[in-house]
Amino acid sequence: MGRAAAGVAVGVAAVACAVAAVAVGRRIRSRGKWKRVARVLREVEEGCEGSVGRLRQVVDAMAVEMHAGLASEGGSKLKMLLTYVHTLPNGTEKGTYYALHLGSTDFRALRVHLHGQQSSVLEHEVEQQPIPQHLMTSTSKDLFDFIASSLKEFIEKEGNGSELSPDRRRELGFTFSFPVKQMSVSSGILIKWTKGFSIVDMEGIDVPACLQEALARKELDMRVAALVNDTVGTLALGHYHDSDTVASVIIGTGTNACYLERVDGIIKCQGLLTTSGYMVVNMEWGNFWSSHLPRTSYDIDLDSESPNPNDQGFEKMISGMYLGDIVRRVILRMLLESDILGPISSKLSMPFILRTPMMAAMHEDDSPDLREVARILKDILEIPQVPLKLRKVVVKVCDVVTRRAARLAAAGIVGILKKIGRDGSGGITGGGRRSDVKMKRTVVAVEGGLYSGYTLFREYLHEALNEILGEDIAKHVILKVTEDGSGIGAALLAASHSSYNVDTAKML
Ligand code: ADP
Ligand code: MG
Repeated sequence: MGRAAAGVAVGVAAVACAVAAVAVGRRIRSRGKWKRVARVLREVEEGCEGSVGRLRQVVDAMAVEMHAGLASEGGSKLKMLLTYVHTLPNGTEKGTYYALHLGSTDFRALRVHLHGQQSSVLEHEVEQQPIPQHLMTSTSKDLFDFIASSLKEFIEKEGNGSELSPDRRRELGFTFSFPVKQMSVSSGILIKWTKGFSIVDMEGIDVPACLQEALARKELDMRVAALVNDTVGTLALGHYHDSDTVASVIIGTGTNACYLERVDGIIKCQGLLTTSGYMVVNMEWGNFWSSHLPRTSYDIDLDSESPNPNDQGFEKMISGMYLGDIVRRVILRMLLESDILGPISSKLSMPFILRTPMMAAMHEDDSPDLREVARILKDILEIPQVPLKLRKVVVKVCDVVTRRAARLAAAGIVGILKKIGRDGSGGITGGGRRSDVKMKRTVVAVEGGLYSGYTLFREYLHEALNEILGEDIAKHVILKVTEDGSGIGAALLAASHSSYNVDTAKML
């Protein structure tokens, strides 16, 4: 070999070595990046860990907090609000009743016909209308005059089928999805507006009275028979169809629960009397808090950046409003810490850009190459060309976040069952599991898009109920989906709290 040729050969070898070194270096760096991805995943898995032992601690904490909230006003983060609902519809109700649901941007009017035979089919008609934006920040008179006019129009369209005898007033259940302190089943004071409403002259004012006055101004002879929280409407609807229903849970955009409590257990309100001996308590469980909850740095950040820090801690780990955003936060940290995809899209830093239904679609993607995951990452978060290995990691993150949410919701439900002695342990003072306790059939009505629309969430929740309660007890606990408790349920409550009924709730 000539000198020149030798020089070329050496040069080629050197280039080859350099290329190989670059490749090895890249591989090492890539391995380092994947390691960092794996570390973030491991940390989030550990942080969200919800072993059955930990869930049982949450169950106990829920039952204890329920006691505390019933013992004194402000005794717990659980408000345990009295609803004055003392009789739940049982299928014997007859006649035509109305409901009005003022939720967020829409309101709905319903007419429900009841035949008195616990018929599983309730005939009803619904009319939905948007609330004009300017009325959401106007005066209470403007808002309620508008609602009363719309209700009057709805009623004027009524045919002859209303089954209302001429000597009876129309009665209405009013579902008002804002925090209220009730004084009776048909009166309650607005604590504060949420969801974009801000009608200053209404804070501290009796809400049904505002509606009642507007109805009078429109010469509509109708009585507001019940002021209803949507969870309570769900319980009423569940109980109408199945009298073993003792509690209800909503798991949708937000989460809440209510249940039937013995009146003598409501210590903070001495001298309360109801004919049934029971009253529905609205727990406002979204605000539940316990140090046993598996909380991660993502939850802490989400909370501190929210408009209501330190509030609704349980809700922020469970409900549809938040799950997608927890997943977004984990993906963001993963990509930032690993640098696996280079620069990060600005979309990934936008709070709430990843909605929970999108997260569910990624989680439930069963295509072999996770096509839906790739599509959502590209279209929603503007992260193109995500390798399959990373798509699998994203699915795992969705799984971890949803599994924790579902298991915590299950623990909350068992907490209620424990409080009312339906968890097979003989109640809060029973001290552990007893095989000789006879379990009654126990139904919990469940409503909400997260539970009904997200199959894996629902499956994880049921699995956790079985684990916590044990199969022998769990087989007596039935979760039943209801639809439109806030509408139909409110009309049913108007029926069971009709002025033509004799049952009452009063103070001694
Ligand atoms: P709301 O709670 O606002 O009264 P819904 O009970 O219908 O209304 O719940 C809607 C919420 O449920 C959505 O905001 C979303 O978070 C969640 N959700 C609805 N469908 C799905 C789905 N298929 N997968 C996951 N979450 C869903
Ligand atoms: Mg709802």
